[in-house]
Amino acid sequence: MSKRRIAIIPGDGIGPEIMDATLQILGAAGFEAEYITLEAGQPALDRGQPAMPPETVEAIREIGIALKGPTTTPVGKGHTSANVALRKALDLFANVRPTRSLPGLKGPFEDKNIDLIIVRENTEDLYAGIEFQPHPDMAQAVKVITRPGSNRLSRYAFEMARKQGRKHVTAVHKANIMKLTDGMFLDEFYKVAADYPEMEADDIIVDNCCMQLVTRPEKFDVVVTENLYGDIVSDLCAGLVGGLGLAAGANIGEKTAVFESVHGSAPDIAGKGIANPTALVFSALMMLRHLGEREKADLIGRAVLRVLKEGKVLTGDIGGTATTVQYRDEVLRQMAASQ
Ligand code: ATP
Repeated sequence: MSKRRIAIIPGDGIGPEIMDATLQILGAAGFEAEYITLEAGQPALDRGQPAMPPETVEAIREIGIALKGPTTTPVGKGHTSANVALRKALDLFANVRPTRSLPGLKGPFEDKNIDLIIVRENTEDLYAGIEFQPHPDMAQAVKVITRPGSNRLSRYAFEMARKQGRKHVTAVHKANIMKLTDGMFLDEFYKVAADYPEMEADDIIVDNCCMQLVTRPEKFDVVVTENLYGDIVSDLCAGLVGGLGLAAGANIGEKTAVFESVHGSAPDIAGKGIANPTALVFSALMMLRHLGEREKADLIGRAVLRVLKEGKVLTGDIGGTATTVQYRDEVLRQMAASQ
């Protein structure tokens, strides 16, 4: 049987370092695939290409599954975000970001039992990229919310909740102010909720949601929200459980799935060999589960949790002094010890 093909986009900044560590960990778990390495981010920009070159997009479309490192988006004129371009081109409408309390990590939320999943809309809202300047002293952006877009996102969230045995789905919005756009989102959410009577469905205004996430994060289960709120709220959630170095994500479309960590390219630490690869490893575990490779995902997941719990070999962002390679080797050692 021919090997499963997976597109690999190392990206830029810390991307190549954490991708390397992640692929070695996947290999040690016995996961076999034909990796097709594709270019995006700074290496593409250096060649005068867009940050997300059309050949890369087409290759991911054809392969169907990708593991992606972070890609820098230069701030300002003329640069379209590689991520936004990819999500729109492949219609990766749902961005799934789990937040779970991890063993051994110290911080103000260490005694909370957090286990929630954010399902963020990925192609609409203010990220539709419709901006214009009708006057030198005024710029405008258009917020786009559609009924079909809101409906399929909510349906994805309820289906995911059902499959994972979760009980409670909460819509996050600001419909008290944005009555037409967020009102439509909320309307579709409750239409879909009616098809899942076993599930508790409710909603919360985004500012109150942020406050409650900090005071009572354990009460959230599945959170479904628009693009901009999801972007902000998911970084907040990453902060609750140890920071961006641990936060995984998946971009899901009808035919394609791209797995990537929540963090950016971390230019401040790029090339120093000290980045935490866990977020990309956890994203790769979401990919393994998506591919039905549950046992291999569990093997790696258990090893990472043991490394975090023991707390002896940790990278700097979570309070240790280990390099990326030392941390990777500790995960490999724990995997070997449990096999
Ligand atoms: P973007 O806008 O592309 O999402 P950003 O500007 O929000 O990026 P990041 O690149 O995510 O920023 O980095 C934010 C901070 O978190 C930086 O100080 C960075 O060093 C740190 N950081 C992010 N990812 C990691 C990681 N994997 N390991 C260690 N530190 C990280």
